[in-house]
Amino acid sequence: MSFKVAILGRPNVGKSTLFNRLVGRKLALVDDTPGVTRDRRVHAARLYDLVFDVIDTAGFEDAPAASLSGRMRAQTEIAIGEADLVFFLIDAKAGLMPDDRTFADVVRRSGKPVVLVANKAEARGAQGGMLEGWELGLGEPIPVSAEHGQGLPDLRDAVIEALGKERALGGDEDDDEEIAASEVLIGEDIADPDADAPAYDETKPLRIAVVGRPNAGKSTLINALIGEERLLTGPEAGITRDSISVEWEWRGRHLKLFDTAGMRRKARVQEKLEKLSVADGLRAVRFAEVVVVVLDATIPFEKQDLQIADLIVREGRAPVIAFNKWDLIDNPQQLLSELREKTERLLPQVRGIQAVTVSAETGRGLDRLMEAVLRTHRIWNSRVSTGKLNRWLEGILAHHPPPAVAGRRLKVKYVTQAKTRPPGFVVSCSRPDAMPQSYVRYLVNNLREAFDMPGVPIRMALRASE
Ligand code: GDP
Ligand code: GDP
Repeated sequence: MSFKVAILGRPNVGKSTLFNRLVGRKLALVDDTPGVTRDRRVHAARLYDLVFDVIDTAGFEDAPAASLSGRMRAQTEIAIGEADLVFFLIDAKAGLMPDDRTFADVVRRSGKPVVLVANKAEARGAQGGMLEGWELGLGEPIPVSAEHGQGLPDLRDAVIEALGKERALGGDEDDDEEIAASEVLIGEDIADPDADAPAYDETKPLRIAVVGRPNAGKSTLINALIGEERLLTGPEAGITRDSISVEWEWRGRHLKLFDTAGMRRKARVQEKLEKLSVADGLRAVRFAEVVVVVLDATIPFEKQDLQIADLIVREGRAPVIAFNKWDLIDNPQQLLSELREKTERLLPQVRGIQAVTVSAETGRGLDRLMEAVLRTHRIWNSRVSTGKLNRWLEGILAHHPPPAVAGRRLKVKYVTQAKTRPPGFVVSCSRPDAMPQSYVRYLVNNLREAFDMPGVPIRMALRASE
């Protein structure tokens, strides 16, 4: 069961742009002049793991932009009536306008769940407009840039919050997606050991994606990794944009790169396509096993970098960080230790993440980067025998048993690895819902150390034992 979203807001706030991004029609023209008429229709849309329909409301803008005419109001109400959820857009760059308030009143009175989206948030001075959004009484403004594909992970989370997890996710996902690395689901099983899952297979191409903020150096890095010639020939004809990939070899290992930034650029596809957005890269994440997060070492960690890394971890992929443009750094030793410290502090879910300094431009560090990719991939595939796991558990329980809750000591019985890619474990215990998160984190951290699994998401589910 999917849900229906209506994207509403006064003209020119970016509704069509967001619409196109969600339905994946980035080639559709967005005009500076509002008023392009289309039939109101419903389109399949996707925001990471959320699958839903968007009601196309573009035709609403026939009315004069200056006022909210009766016709627009009527259309808006129809769209709201059909929708399960409203994305109410404001233009954070321009700030609140009287029409925003009028529209917001209509939306608020409808009683439908609303996500308040502060668009154009990447623009200078958008912070003020975003904060004004609070005045609409529609809850927290979620800053996004529809045009640049920024803030979409937060938008996803806001949808889940507005609709509830079950409704938003449709309740039919597989466990792979359910169990986020940063949270532990209580009483939820990870899939049973997949007996028919292939053993670690080095002959299969290792699927890689390269993501990061614009200008971090993704294209340069991709070109350096694969080699110009390969790129100039471009991807094979007839492959759709979403599945563009290129294969190559590194030290005899077969690799397959999903993503398109550099390829598109080199293949001289239209200019519109050149600006690879973060969201485009994140789509490639879903196809990838290992994801290289490219950070510009000359620019400190920003929220967006973290959002990207966090999303990769939530998706259960194996992350590797490339601190790029290292050739520009004057004090490499000091910066490296700062960056390492920051990485560990900001990404505790993937303690020990591989982080490599590179210069895509000069080619320095690329071999180390590829080594890190292979190593992380191997860890991500690793499997620990039940015997070893339970010997480990015995030691843990002897030295640091779970706490007592309401006077009764929680009992942990045994642990098995239920899956790989990423490693997922099931712990049988008494009263899973009473088990403190801190103890589960302790188990995960300790298990990571004991079995040498740095830098990959580790999932742990608790199961009630009799
Ligand atoms: P609509 O009238 O609400 O459908 O708005 P459009 O999607 O047509 O966008 C109106 C204008 O705002 C266009 O020029 C877009 O390029 C621009 N725009 C849309 N989203 C963003 C954004 O995130 N940032 C900036 N700076 N401009 C945007
Ligand atoms: P993308 O938007 O992430 O694909 O970034 P690009 O690959 O287009 O790179 C953005 C800019 O950074 C370009 O001007 C590159 O020449 C430059 N750049 C990329 N990698 C390096 C590097 O390792 N060192 C230096 N000095 N510049 C780099």
